[in-house]
Amino acid sequence: MTMDHVTTLECTLCGAEYDPDQVIYTCPEHDGVEGILEVKYDYDVVHDRFDAELDGNITSQWKYEAFLPVHEEASVVTLNEGGTDLFDAPGLSEALSVRTLVKDDGRNPTGCFKDRASSIAVTKAKHDGREIIICASTGNAAASLSGYAARGGLDCRIFVPGDAPAGKLAQPLVYGADVLAVDGSYDEAYDLSMEATGEYGWYNRNAAINPFQVEGKRTVGHELAEQSVARGEVPDWVVFSMGDGCTIAGAWKGFREFYDLDYVEDAPKMLGVQAEGASAIHDAFHGHDDVEEIAQTLADSIAVGRPRNTLKACRALEESGGTSVLVEDEAILEAELLLGSTEGIYTEPAGATPIAGVQTAREAGIIGADETVVVCSTGFGLKDTESAKQATGGVNRVEPRIEEINELYGDEAAAADD
Ligand SMILES: [Zn+2]
Repeated sequence: MTMDHVTTLECTLCGAEYDPDQVIYTCPEHDGVEGILEVKYDYDVVHDRFDAELDGNITSQWKYEAFLPVHEEASVVTLNEGGTDLFDAPGLSEALSVRTLVKDDGRNPTGCFKDRASSIAVTKAKHDGREIIICASTGNAAASLSGYAARGGLDCRIFVPGDAPAGKLAQPLVYGADVLAVDGSYDEAYDLSMEATGEYGWYNRNAAINPFQVEGKRTVGHELAEQSVARGEVPDWVVFSMGDGCTIAGAWKGFREFYDLDYVEDAPKMLGVQAEGASAIHDAFHGHDDVEEIAQTLADSIAVGRPRNTLKACRALEESGGTSVLVEDEAILEAELLLGSTEGIYTEPAGATPIAGVQTAREAGIIGADETVVVCSTGFGLKDTESAKQATGGVNRVEPRIEEINELYGDEAAAADD
């Protein structure tokens, strides 16, 4: 057994330490799943193991294998996740009146950011000799895990809220997973998955409580750091939407590691964005007492009433000198359309949420006009076409006659004749 670079699993609440070779999800000293564990590394060993060039050529997240908590002899289950483009976005920048780049994680193998984590989860489950892997999800994690389980030859069972978008329910079925559409909210689906894990001993990939798989989310931070080095500039802000909170926490941890190791000269501030109707992390970060456990937003990927990683997310915002903002659903839909129409990048509502957040933060004076911003699109738009219909107002219906086209574009025909 060699995982020399991983030292312990440390409880984020009481600091108790656990053996990283043990399958343990949360610290048993606390109620429920409150005692979230964090993977700790020996960075001298990590640094010695890491010999890649930070030249911006990234074909997958496994370029950063030295940083990932897998055994050296484990065979990696991968579909080449990560290595996503960081695009200049001149049209979007103009619309937001601040220089903006887009990290397009919607182009991961199953169409979402979570592939980074699923690859780790399935690699570890397989190495542990597990045959069944499960998760609860608002949709994307389920589709992602199902794909990687299929790739790794594991059985997969997923718990999703019954009203998840149709595209997200179809995808895991094609990957051969058992899809359990729970008649209830995401929070209820989550609780049921936890109960079933206890009862049946399945390997649970739930991002918020599985301390390992969330570590895959760091690679987006590693990539942003490497892309900063290659471009010769570090963004002032990196913006993510927040559901359970582990994505922004993972991204920050990854970037901070490269900064702490002097691989990159500066670190960005993190801006976390939530929908008005699902604002628990924002409320906690700003010290609001009346935190409501509601989750009302069309951005289904971040419709979380009781985030499991509030602590880690708030720490990322605080350590980086960042903050959080809230946006309305209408602004999210407008942002989805804005990104698609200015840059040709089709994102799902949760992926458009950071753009709406930049708009809000610009208006509030949080982001200055002379700063540089990276927004992360975390999911591909085709997963949820219903919201796009709302955002765009739909198509032109025409009869199959040229007169109908003339009615629309007649002026252009006249101009072409001249
Ligand atoms: Zn503890």
